[in-house]
Amino acid sequence: MPEPTQQLTEQPNRRSFLRRGALAAAAGGFAAHAVLTSPTARAAPPLPEAPTNELVRMLADLDAALAKPAEKRRWVMVVDTRKCIGCNACTVACRAENQVGPAGSYRRVLRIESGAGPWVAGTFKPANCMHCDNPPCARAVPAGMIRKRPDGIVELDYTRLKGQYAHAAAAACPYGAIHVEDGRNFTDGTPAVQEYEKREFVEYGKSWRRSELVGVARKCHFCLHLLEAGSLPACVSTCIGGAMHFGDASLPNSLVRELLNKNRTLRHKEDLGTAPRVYYVAEPFPTTPQAACNTCHY
Ligand code: SF4
Ligand code: SF4
Repeated sequence: MPEPTQQLTEQPNRRSFLRRGALAAAAGGFAAHAVLTSPTARAAPPLPEAPTNELVRMLADLDAALAKPAEKRRWVMVVDTRKCIGCNACTVACRAENQVGPAGSYRRVLRIESGAGPWVAGTFKPANCMHCDNPPCARAVPAGMIRKRPDGIVELDYTRLKGQYAHAAAAACPYGAIHVEDGRNFTDGTPAVQEYEKREFVEYGKSWRRSELVGVARKCHFCLHLLEAGSLPACVSTCIGGAMHFGDASLPNSLVRELLNKNRTLRHKEDLGTAPRVYYVAEPFPTTPQAACNTCHY
C-alpha cells in the first residue's frame, strides 16, 4: 500500500483538511501502540495492522460507499476492545465536533473488570448510539420525530423531539444513548463563558447553537456531516488505539466487512431485538485463559 501522504494529493479543501487531520491523529495513535507493544510491556495484544493504514483504507471504503445510492449503504461501527486503552480521546473529540455540553455525552468509555485471582483483567468498552435497525426510541414518540434513514443512521428531528417527547425517547433507549440538552456550559460560573461553547455546529444538515436546543433530545449521529464531507466520524479518526472502525458493511472488500467476517463479534443487548449497528470484536485476550470480557458483560 502506498504511503498515506501519497494518497492525499487533492487540492486543499475541507475534505482533504479533515482527512489530513485524521491521519495525523492516527500517527499519534500508532506511536502510543509502539509504546504499549514494546518488549518491556507485559504481553500486550498483537496489532494486526498499523492504525494509520486502517484509516487510509476506511477513507477509501468511504469514497466507494458514498458513490452508491444511500439506500445501498450499510453503515456499521466495529469496535475492537482489545485495542482500546480507555484514554477517552474519542469522547473529547466527539464533544468538540458536536458541541456536546455537560448535560450528557454522545459517547462513553466504560471500564469493565473480569476474572479473579491472578487473572483479573480490565477492558474498556466504548459505546454510543447503536443506530438500531429496530429502534425502541422511535416507537416511544410520535411518528417522524425519530427516523431511520435509508443508510441506517437514526436521525432525530430537533424541531419536534423536545420536552416530554425528548424524555420519553431517552427513557426508551436501552443503551442510555440519548440525553436532553439543558443549555449549560462547562465554563458557567467562570468570569466568561468561552466562545467555543457558544459556536455553531452542524447536525442533520442544519446549523445549530446549543442555546437553541434546550429541552431537545440529542445523541450520536455517526458524525453524518463528516461522512457527507468524505471523512470518518470524529471518534474513529481520533482513536488513539486504533480500536474504532467504521464503514459500509455491504461492500465486500471494506475493512468493516473483513473484520466482521474474520472475527467473532457481539452486539450489545442483542436479545432485546433492537438489531444494533455497532459490533464488538469478541475474541479473547491472548494473555488470559478466560473468554473475552464481552462474553459475560455485554
Ligand atoms: S441506541 Fe438508543 S437512541 Fe440509538 S437507535 Fe438504539 S434505541 Fe435509539
Ligand atoms: S480513543 Fe480509542 S483507545 Fe481511546 S478510549 Fe476511545 S476507543 Fe478507546
